[in-house]
Amino acid sequence: MTRKFAGDRLLIATHNAGKLEEMAHLLAPHGVTVVGASELNLQEPEETEDTFVGNARIKAHAAAKATGLPALSDDSGIEIDALNGAPGVYTADWAETPDGRDFKMAMERTHRELEAINAPRPRKARFCCTLVLAWPDGHDEVFPGVMEGQVVWPMRGDQGHGYDPVFQPDGYDQTFGEMDRWEKNKISHRADAVRKFVAGCFG
Ligand code: IMP
Repeated sequence: MTRKFAGDRLLIATHNAGKLEEMAHLLAPHGVTVVGASELNLQEPEETEDTFVGNARIKAHAAAKATGLPALSDDSGIEIDALNGAPGVYTADWAETPDGRDFKMAMERTHRELEAINAPRPRKARFCCTLVLAWPDGHDEVFPGVMEGQVVWPMRGDQGHGYDPVFQPDGYDQTFGEMDRWEKNKISHRADAVRKFVAGCFG
């Protein structure tokens, strides 16, 4: 039996403004307002696992423990088939620079690596999102979401965040970066996981 979430304010264990904004939009219809980890000055724990669920658990449990509140975390990334699933859990790491994250650089790297092996098109890829809701007593629930598509080049669109400009979801001509944010939010990996979270933890 999935443990239910009873409150109307939910702590989201992320410092990523793009993820937080999407989560606020996805949860608003369910009467839930979100509070981000930065608002509460929470530390970002180190993500030491090599799976989405492992890292999502680290973030959710750290936030629940620090605040005494149930906390929802999101660990996500893009898996590119021709790169054997890379960057995967290291999606954010590919953007790291000494001056902060540079997603243009990270997207250029995906393109460079695909060109280097002359990967055939379509360059199949998927965005994955694992949500974990953790309670201060150590209990948690896990909700995975996915969106299949392909990696394209050049980058197109400036609507989204992260790798959105190079990801074209199956069945669409636009990249996530070209799509209206709220259109993306109907079909994304995060929307898929949130649907499962809502079905499991509400009602
Ligand atoms: P992490 O979950 O904080 O380790 O970071 C996941 C990384 O995946 C983010 O920093 C983004 O670069 C990328 N990512 C996850 N979800 C999306 C999305 O919806 N659009 C674009 N990039 C995403």
